[in-house]
Amino acid sequence: MVEPADQEFEQIVLCNERRAGLRSIIAIHDTSLGPALGGVRMRSYPSHDAAVADALALARAMTYKAALADLPIGGGKSVINADPRSANRDEILMAHARYISSLGGRYIPAVDMGTTVCDMRLIGRFAPLSCAQRVDPGLFTARGVVRSIEAALMHATGKGVDGRRVAVQGLGNVGWNVARMLIEEGADVTAADIDEHKVARGVEELGITPAPLSRILDSDVDVLSPCAGGGVIDAAALDSLRAEVLVGAANNMLSSNTIAVDLAERGIVYVPDFVANAGGLMAMEAELRDDETGLESKVDSIAATALAVLERSAATNLDTVTVATEMAWTRVASSRTDQPYFAQAVTAGM
Ligand code: NAD
Repeated sequence: MVEPADQEFEQIVLCNERRAGLRSIIAIHDTSLGPALGGVRMRSYPSHDAAVADALALARAMTYKAALADLPIGGGKSVINADPRSANRDEILMAHARYISSLGGRYIPAVDMGTTVCDMRLIGRFAPLSCAQRVDPGLFTARGVVRSIEAALMHATGKGVDGRRVAVQGLGNVGWNVARMLIEEGADVTAADIDEHKVARGVEELGITPAPLSRILDSDVDVLSPCAGGGVIDAAALDSLRAEVLVGAANNMLSSNTIAVDLAERGIVYVPDFVANAGGLMAMEAELRDDETGLESKVDSIAATALAVLERSAATNLDTVTVATEMAWTRVASSRTDQPYFAQAVTAGM
């Protein structure tokens, strides 16, 4: 099995429920800032190890994301290794929810790829807390991505979005809204999606230019915005990349952190995904507190964080992932006590 670095993760739960056919992983990375909040991802992985590796990488990114977004929450994620179209989907989700419930609120589930707001309502019947039952995080994620694109373009060229060419990979919940907002700001958007219907709708309703699936990453554009799966920017994609700015929603879009160094060497301005896509997390945290006052301006503040990362990277010659990770750890360390969140909660209740 994939072994994480020594003591990096607070807790990793491997869940097996034969009756429902559930095989899932709940990864709690760090709860120094609060309970671990993170999506429930449902997809068929090529192997159990691949599912574990994905859960760990995603949970780690949630810690960084929450810390940089200045939220009182920690990092976690769960991954169900099953086809989201499974006939017994609800049973699988309920079995997963029972495992979440056994963690007593240390992990707060939310919507992610392969799961929906309806699923969160179902899980919420078992888990002590769950979010994204009311607010759709995708819209806020898209808003944060667009603010990050604006910040990156200003940093790189001193000009805004108007008249820029942007390629969007994936016209799902986030990508659709990224494309829509950019077009409203005067950008020329080309996009691709494995779902032809979404592309056809995008042409008709948004005015996007369709691109072939295999050519979207090397489109001749100013900005590339990956908003589909992770790991899409690998060595081959990097070689053929023509965009000057890389900013998208896709979690863990770089196939490895060394790609961030290569991007910096090639002068490509990259806002790390865990900075740019924090808007949805902000919305979910607001929903959890039942107070969405000021949410839009909080999401807009992602632009300032993105700019701070880009400026520090330029000043230190370090790549943006290294810089953003250091900034996140500084915040986590400043709040870290001897006891993680669950131990504090238990002690407080004694
Ligand atoms: P989604 O499932 O709604 O949309 C993904 C879209 O990508 C779908 O339309 C799908 O058909 C398309 N797609 C899949 N593979 C593709 C490929 N190879 N080429 C082109 N298109 C492809 O998901 P979403 O909620 O829009 O999330 C998109 C990405 O952003 C994911 O990586 C997700 O983890 C990340 N993210 C989402 C949120 C959120 O609030 N929804 C928050 C943070 C990060």
